[in-house]
Amino acid sequence: MNSLDSEHLMNELRLHKDYIPTDNADDADLIIINTCSVREKPVQKLFSELGSINKAKKAGAKIGVCGCTASHLGQEIIKRAPYVDFVLGARNVSKIKDVVDIKGAVEVDINYDESTYTFGNSEQSLYKTSANISIGCDKECTYCIVPFTRGDEVSIPSEMIISQIQKAVDKGALEVMLLGQNVNNYGKRFSDGSAKSSFTKLLQDVSKIEGLQRIRFTSPHPLHMDDEFIEEFAKNPKICKSIHIPLQSGSTKVLKDMKRGYTKEWFLNRALKIRELVPDVRISTDIIVAFPTETHEDFLDTMDVIEQVKFDQIFNFKYSPRPNTAALDLTPVMSDEEASARLEKVIELHKIHQEELVYANKGKIMKVLFDELKPNGEISGFSDNYIQVFVKGSEELLGKIVDVKITGASRTTLKGEIV
Ligand code: SF4
Repeated sequence: MNSLDSEHLMNELRLHKDYIPTDNADDADLIIINTCSVREKPVQKLFSELGSINKAKKAGAKIGVCGCTASHLGQEIIKRAPYVDFVLGARNVSKIKDVVDIKGAVEVDINYDESTYTFGNSEQSLYKTSANISIGCDKECTYCIVPFTRGDEVSIPSEMIISQIQKAVDKGALEVMLLGQNVNNYGKRFSDGSAKSSFTKLLQDVSKIEGLQRIRFTSPHPLHMDDEFIEEFAKNPKICKSIHIPLQSGSTKVLKDMKRGYTKEWFLNRALKIRELVPDVRISTDIIVAFPTETHEDFLDTMDVIEQVKFDQIFNFKYSPRPNTAALDLTPVMSDEEASARLEKVIELHKIHQEELVYANKGKIMKVLFDELKPNGEISGFSDNYIQVFVKGSEELLGKIVDVKITGASRTTLKGEIV
């Protein structure tokens, strides 16, 4: 999401203010840090990074801070780093063309509604494109700062989404990534008065775009994975067979403390149904270990879900307390050493599954969309189920979907040859 916001910032500045990107920060007239605030570490890094940029930048160059930490800290950023020229929140990206010229501007309104704003399209011809389908989040997960930085959930009208994807397809895009905090809650509320809709309907509409060959999306919420959605995912040939299902915890009690809205049994039922209906599916997840109320038994429930689902990829984190969140006041029931040991156990178990699953691809034929030239005469791309595949080849493969026979594997990537 932040990458797409950065792209929107660049396109808006190019279209309305004649800025062009440079690879050399010392030469830039404007330097923007687009921040994340989901965990504490990137926030701590922001101020040291700002100090370094301020020392190295050319005289007169402006500095802007955008994104979720901008929403969260607002004016505080200019108080702590007075050389920062403007602060622009994650929900205010379209205002970049205004704040860039106002020294000291702070635009961080999390209720600002830019769901019907048409962002400038990228000028480049890319094989892949991304489209926001909603902004904000209506959930209240007790560990999460996002509702305080990106505001309430509003869906983007489907005609706008389709027209934006169509423009990218006309320039050569074969694949789209649909983005939202809870993509499968799509269609509950539009600010332009559009009638309620659903994510499944949007998937059906997007798959009618001629020339578009692949559809990906992230992140769906386990709570909203109804049968209709799972069946569409399984049978629609344009929908890529990789899915992110954020578990967070395998314990029904901890899930309740996190206010996630589903149980261990519901999660298992959904994930295993997807595995059953879609044989080659890759499933990734997010896991937070050591949520303050997580006992040893709760942790074993998480390990049990990992064992049963065998995730292809896990983004695992130790719980990180965040300001404004309900979990901030909870006292952890385990020591920090125990928290680290639990994280280690998740990593170890996942490594075993990851290797088993990736090596099982040897000998298979996969369709790969090639998009990046690599050194040593190699080129890489992603399979339908989202594994990076390397083959010997050159630029004539760029932007093509080609059958590849898998001949080798490492823990996270595959090697193959064109067939
Ligand atoms: S669903 Fe929960 S974890 Fe995801 S962005 Fe919303 S509040 Fe945060």
